[in-house]
Amino acid sequence: MKNIEFPLFKTKAENVKERFNLTDPQEREAYFQLKAGLEIRKLQEYLKENSFICYLLGKKNSGKGTYAKMLKEVVDKDKIEHFSIGDMVRTLDEVVGDKEKLAELENFLSKNYRGYLPLKDIVEALKSRSTKILLPSELILALVKMKISTDNKKALFIDGFPRNLDQVSYSLFFRDLIGYRDDPDVFILIDVPEKVIDERIKYRVVCPKCQTSRNLKLLPTKYIGFDQAKKEYFLLCDNPECSNEIRLQGKEGDELGIEPIRDRLETDEELMKKTFALYGVPKVLLRNSVPVEKAKEYLDDYEITPEFNYQQNGNEIIIKEKPWLIQDDQGIDSYSLMPPPVVVSLIKQLVEVLGL
Ligand SMILES: [Zn+2]
Repeated sequence: MKNIEFPLFKTKAENVKERFNLTDPQEREAYFQLKAGLEIRKLQEYLKENSFICYLLGKKNSGKGTYAKMLKEVVDKDKIEHFSIGDMVRTLDEVVGDKEKLAELENFLSKNYRGYLPLKDIVEALKSRSTKILLPSELILALVKMKISTDNKKALFIDGFPRNLDQVSYSLFFRDLIGYRDDPDVFILIDVPEKVIDERIKYRVVCPKCQTSRNLKLLPTKYIGFDQAKKEYFLLCDNPECSNEIRLQGKEGDELGIEPIRDRLETDEELMKKTFALYGVPKVLLRNSVPVEKAKEYLDDYEITPEFNYQQNGNEIIIKEKPWLIQDDQGIDSYSLMPPPVVVSLIKQLVEVLGL
């Protein structure tokens, strides 16, 4: 990222010849044990009696959810929760359509909501699915509190809050507001080059039937086809419960990459700068990219995200794989990391800020 230097994190294992296929769940598990086994056990032990709150901050499509879910998977599925504000707001649609759930929501809010907009206006806006009223931060806070009060004390990875600069101050006192014991809170800042986000969007494809989502360049399925008319390659669904005759499709507008979300990315960058400058709150800094010239020193080669190219050979399609080369936001030739090494860095930094 411009203006903030995210340190490089070494995940290379010295004197280990073993290689891991990080897209295979079992090999990934072995990989985590090798690279962060001790730290994983420390976190597991800690979570028996304690919890924490992490705020995930990164640009849209930077993979916040992916990292949090993988950490949960590796450390403790029952004691860790990835909590997306966006998902929660989307479920409100369902709540307002259900009389009983709506009454429950109104009841909770009448006791817990404090804010500048009258509660009845907000509920009316929710009911009419009006997008004219932007959900105020005070309401988001009350909703998060509702969600947490119905859950057991779990370590939380909050994704999507703070979302705007005015919400940063709320996040500073959030732990106190929701009465979350004395457990620590941590800001997790994720640095992903815009080029990475751009290509993730440009090449993403989804199965129209089962919603399996892949990427033509970065994460193909097992079955590749070639469209003679359009002169382009496509992916066929490889979900065993779906059909391998269905073509995965890109969304209209995705070919524009990050251009349509440029404003959002700028706000996200401002948010990261602001939280980076905060005193008194521990921070974890994660970076998705490593300069090519440093790669050998810091990484094992299988930790680098590959890109896939296709070639026709008679009736056969040959898949070629090579390290995906991108320019980071400073224009430096870099490799992008697979999610697991970023999660190793997250685990180790968490152990350190929690003082375990
Ligand atoms: Zn499918």
